[in-house]
Amino acid sequence: MVDLDAMINELQFGTVAVLGVPLDENSSFMQGSALAPARIRKVLHAGSANLCAESGLDLGAETRWRDLGDVAFLGGATAFEQIEHAIAQLLDRDVRVFTLGGDHSITYPIVRAYSRKHPKLNILQLDAHPDLYDEFDGNRYSNACPFARIMEEQLVARLVQVGIRTMNPHQRQQAKRFGVEVIEMGAWHPGIALDFDGPVYLSLDMDALDPAFAPGVSHHEPGGFATRHVLGIIQNLKTPIVGADIVEFNPERDPVGITAMVAAKFMKEIIAQMLG
Ligand code: MN
Repeated sequence: MVDLDAMINELQFGTVAVLGVPLDENSSFMQGSALAPARIRKVLHAGSANLCAESGLDLGAETRWRDLGDVAFLGGATAFEQIEHAIAQLLDRDVRVFTLGGDHSITYPIVRAYSRKHPKLNILQLDAHPDLYDEFDGNRYSNACPFARIMEEQLVARLVQVGIRTMNPHQRQQAKRFGVEVIEMGAWHPGIALDFDGPVYLSLDMDALDPAFAPGVSHHEPGGFATRHVLGIIQNLKTPIVGADIVEFNPERDPVGITAMVAAKFMKEIIAQMLG
């Protein structure tokens, strides 16, 4: 765990700071994603692959990113308050944060901090699910609800969801009410334009992928992206990524470790894209 207060003044402005958020208590179906940050780091550094992104940028030699370890959850404030505070501290230092979740509920406190720093923020969400429920099983902070909270509080200029394949009438109504731009999986094709005129926050739910490519998620939803599709979306973004998360990787559903490796690959490519 990390003592941000002690570390923050050592960070250079513009650094991409990796922060683990091992929280899965708001998972509506099964837990396990709290194990993800440690598992992703383990395969990233296991030696089976080098640390080069496909652009050739060698993250092993690159000093503009730093892994801060996991956020320290202490008593007192709620977990969400502590996440928001940690992100805000880093953004105050002009650091860009790349978060390893955790379930998707964590994106709400992260974006709360981001919206103060970037009033014109755009979110690009890659996901099988819209996560727009007003509440789920009585929990308004469930991993099925973060984007309803974000849109209610008008935290972002645009929310663009890509890869969705679980729309139901309630969430379709929510999407319409909040003006969410949804590209459902059935309508998506490689090369489809994803243009933004301001800073982008990328929220990458691993269940956006087809379970054939990434079985280690809590909610298997067939008919999704190939790994290559997601890499193409990341690499072809024209606007700066000011923050990102990878969420919903569940190591307990990942027997041969393939999903961990896919997440580590995305981590390399997203950091490389952020560093430009
Ligand atoms: Mn999802």
